[in-house]
Amino acid sequence: MVRSSSLLRAVSKDQTILGLRNRGIDILRNPRTNKGMAFTLPERQVLGIHGLLPPTVLTQEEQMYRTMQSFTRQPTDLDRYVLLAGLQDRNEKLFYRLLSENVESMMPIVYTPTVGLACQKFGLIYRRPRGLFLTIHDRGHIFELLSNWPEEAVKAIVVTDGERILGLGDLGAFGMGIPIGKLALYTALGGVKPHQCLPIVLDVGTDNDDLLSNKMYIGLRQKRERGPAYDELVEELMQAATERWGRNVLIQFEDFANANAQRLLDKYQMHYNTFNDDIQGTAGVALAGLLASLRISGIRMRDHKVFFMGAGSAACGIASFLALQMVIEGMTEAEALDRIWMFDADGLVVNERPAGMSGTKARFAKNHKHMSDFEEVIGEIKPSILIGACATGGVFTKNILNKMASWNERPVIFALSNPTSKAECTAEEAYVHTDGRGIFASGSPFDPVVYKGKTYRPGQGNNSYIFPGVGLGAIVAQMKHISDKVFLRAATTCAEMVTEADLEQGRLYPPLSNIRAVSLRIAVETINEAFEDGSASIDPKPQDVEEFVKSKMYDYKYDSFLPIMYDWPEEAGHEISDEKFMHFKEMI
Ligand code: NAD
Repeated sequence: MVRSSSLLRAVSKDQTILGLRNRGIDILRNPRTNKGMAFTLPERQVLGIHGLLPPTVLTQEEQMYRTMQSFTRQPTDLDRYVLLAGLQDRNEKLFYRLLSENVESMMPIVYTPTVGLACQKFGLIYRRPRGLFLTIHDRGHIFELLSNWPEEAVKAIVVTDGERILGLGDLGAFGMGIPIGKLALYTALGGVKPHQCLPIVLDVGTDNDDLLSNKMYIGLRQKRERGPAYDELVEELMQAATERWGRNVLIQFEDFANANAQRLLDKYQMHYNTFNDDIQGTAGVALAGLLASLRISGIRMRDHKVFFMGAGSAACGIASFLALQMVIEGMTEAEALDRIWMFDADGLVVNERPAGMSGTKARFAKNHKHMSDFEEVIGEIKPSILIGACATGGVFTKNILNKMASWNERPVIFALSNPTSKAECTAEEAYVHTDGRGIFASGSPFDPVVYKGKTYRPGQGNNSYIFPGVGLGAIVAQMKHISDKVFLRAATTCAEMVTEADLEQGRLYPPLSNIRAVSLRIAVETINEAFEDGSASIDPKPQDVEEFVKSKMYDYKYDSFLPIMYDWPEEAGHEISDEKFMHFKEMI
């Protein structure tokens, strides 16, 4: 038993510095310090928790095994979501290690598609506070509310107003599940430290009548504010967040409806460290998949004809990046735009149509007769790439896919809408109805497909390939703003990490098990881009950018409390370096 007087003296001093004044049960109740049964016997003794835990001491690996047992035994994915959320509330390091090392099985739970269901049932599964709810009635007091957030070192905010949650529409304050999920991925995939992450919902009401009459709803029971007060709230958040956490705090916009998403991006992109994941992240990941597909089809991007089903935030974002890529390949902008067609709920996107033309999609409108029959339009335009972003399940019918295969040797089919039920077609349909020649990617995950003896492993065009790396880079470089070129570079980086073996199996993205390595590379390239375009605030540029990024990343392995106590001999007094002090502080 370790109970030497020197240890106890050292401990009592460390308690002051470490903030371990709350010894005992509070160590276990704090998810940041709690290691559960992994506390060693000496730790249990010095921390005053001996006897509060069963006598068995487990390693983190053993805890992971046990948690996996519970995870796989849960009857539904929503139960798995609740189990993981509970773990995140209890033992942060175990949660992030599990998620980081089991991305393929756990990301679909913590994020799309299960997070969609979790948002729909948010009132039912809500347990403990996580994140900030800022309502339209809090205008004028946003800084005070941000001050209630207990963390001083916030570096990444993900904010939603809940109006367009995945493909599920207006979920109001239930949308909080999205920033929570995204930020979990910031840590698990991008290595951003959990205490640096803040999820925010702007609750401006909801136009979802089912929610307004739902007894389980937790948000404001009023229709959405759409007037100037809405813009004032967003503006106040931008100002208050940068006042509270510094000019370079990263603010990611997530799942805003089309009408606000592009407008707010245009307003803030060059003035804050900000991006919109639905527009730029989606565009980046779709472009990454398309760049990888060129290696299969052997056709340059500029020689493709691209058709979008849907002309909202996602489609317009992807289309703009595609146009930029074609220009990089030597086309004029007009020539590039000419090769990109769109179709939305009002039919073919043309200059003259009964519903009129407005917004970002107007850039892609053609001088063509108005048509509203999708199948007919496809037959007329004969695209080589078909991208679905219309949140309408099954619109890529057998007929459509057959047609695509009839005039393309290797038709490219992307069914990006989420969740799975909204996908424009399934992976199986895409392969079977193109006789195995389709090059397919989707927004939600699909299982491998066996067709005519060959196994296809479809890639998931998941934004998670892009945003955690860009976010990490933007945080580390303390970027002043994030240009679209950052996302183009991220897309190229991601595509370069797709191996020939991946392509052979029909996979346009690296395997999800490799996604953390992708994030690190993208973070490095984001920082390189930031130094090239002058948007980095850190100075000078680190000599070894990759090592610098790694030194800032979260370590999900448990800290040992004892070495720190021993590390700090009495004779050292209270003179410790800032770096060491921060390390101690972050442990708590
Ligand atoms: P949005 O609401 O901005 O746009 C939807 C578009 O689809 C609109 O142009 C609408 O007119 C059109 N549309 C709706 N019904 C249609 C129909 N029956 N036929 C033709 N067009 C129709 O939404 P968004 O932000 O562009 O997102 C669209 C989808 O893309 C969502 O399901 C979302 O989950 C998905 N998405 C996927 C990823 C990804 O996988 N990486 C990223 C972002 C968004």
